[in-house]
Amino acid sequence: MYPLLKVDAARAAWIEVTSKTLHELGDRHRTALVEASQALEFPRAIYQELGSLGYLGPLVPTELGGSGWGVPEYVVISEEVGRHGLVSGQIAVQGQKWLLDWGTDEQKAQWLGPIASGEKVFSESISEPTMGSSFKNMKATATRDGDDWILNGHKTHVNLGADSEVTIFYGVTPDGITSFLVDTSFAGVSTKVTDAIGLRLIRTADVIFDNVRVSDASRIGPVGGGLETFLSTFNISRLGNASELIGLGRRALEIAINYGNTRIVGTTHVTEFQGIQWMMADAWTSLQSASLARDQAALAHERGEDIALATTLAKRLAITAAELAMDIAFSMTGGEGLYHESPLLEISNDLRVLKVAGGSQEIMRNYIARSILKSTDHEGLA
Ligand SMILES: Cc1cc2nc3c(=O)[nH]c(=O)nc-3n(C[C@H](O)[C@H](O)[C@H](O)COP(=O)(O)OP(=O)(O)OC[C@H]3O[C@@H](n4cnc5c(N)ncnc54)[C@H](O)[C@@H]3O)c2cc1C
Repeated sequence: MYPLLKVDAARAAWIEVTSKTLHELGDRHRTALVEASQALEFPRAIYQELGSLGYLGPLVPTELGGSGWGVPEYVVISEEVGRHGLVSGQIAVQGQKWLLDWGTDEQKAQWLGPIASGEKVFSESISEPTMGSSFKNMKATATRDGDDWILNGHKTHVNLGADSEVTIFYGVTPDGITSFLVDTSFAGVSTKVTDAIGLRLIRTADVIFDNVRVSDASRIGPVGGGLETFLSTFNISRLGNASELIGLGRRALEIAINYGNTRIVGTTHVTEFQGIQWMMADAWTSLQSASLARDQAALAHERGEDIALATTLAKRLAITAAELAMDIAFSMTGGEGLYHESPLLEISNDLRVLKVAGGSQEIMRNYIARSILKSTDHEGLA
């Protein structure tokens, strides 16, 4: 779709190539991707192939081993990954943003290139069994010990937690929440894979930190600056979520239309029923609205504007659009879509996860409501 991003001819040409490349990659690896998802395995070789093509390192400058692209390119990659059922690079890109915004020269030199190529996998150890939407109940701790820190805590729902070489850990210190980059081979780090219904190609894990000793050079951002480091990535995270959701919605709609164009009920193709056409029109309209909002946010980021509200709006719209497309896909495919062999269940489960992970739809709505209420002219409500 990319209604605004395609206005730039050079970018439109890049989008065309990227879309074709990721389409071909998805088709070529379909069997392996389906098997990995069912077996709950991380398809590292396919992930690294994405890295070798530059798709895991869009934000990293070329001199640091990345592709040197930008946020607009990142959203295109995310949408095409969702659309072609590929393994997501969202976590890698969030890692890049953390490192680019807060990393020391040594941290950047050590991690950015390998994360961008897929040689090293990044993960985010933030959520805990008693803490997700809000940081307030964070129990994990970071305790100063001479020049080092001792990290303790139980992190959960961590995408790629058991597959990553480096993770970002958030823990409470007397001066507030602080973040650290932790090499997962360090003594005291252990993981246990968990069985989420969706995004299974980047399977989740519990990550346990049991007296993990790290040097102060592992700290990322200031002591007590955890909220700041977290907030600097959330726009990127929401844009990635929104784009994958749009991609999932497009995939569901495309599967449904292909089926409906050939399936005859009585003497009529399914896509000839007006009731079906209206549902398709609604889903497409919703996907187009989400794409417009997402493109607008990506371009505003490129201009250096504050995009917190724009990205939240994009994710909110993308959830609705993907759900509408999903419902219609299930309607149009009838009984055919309701078997495990159909890709629709996997798409639907990925969608359910993206409604929660990276900030739930309730949190998106809270943020939008707060922004409207604190605006003095109540813009948009008059
Ligand atoms: C598959 C998967 C992958 C994930 N990946 C990661 C990862 O890689 N790293 C990581 O650290 N975390 C990850 N998460 C965790 C995810 O970010 C949290 O699940 C999410 O933030 C919600 O937190 P919670 O599950 O604790 O729900 P809670 O915070 O307990 O919320 C429960 C419900 O209450 C709603 N709610 C909460 N606060 C409010 C409010 N103020 N107003 C209205 N409703 C509210 C929520 O929307 C939700 O519906 C992942 C989760 C899943 C399921």
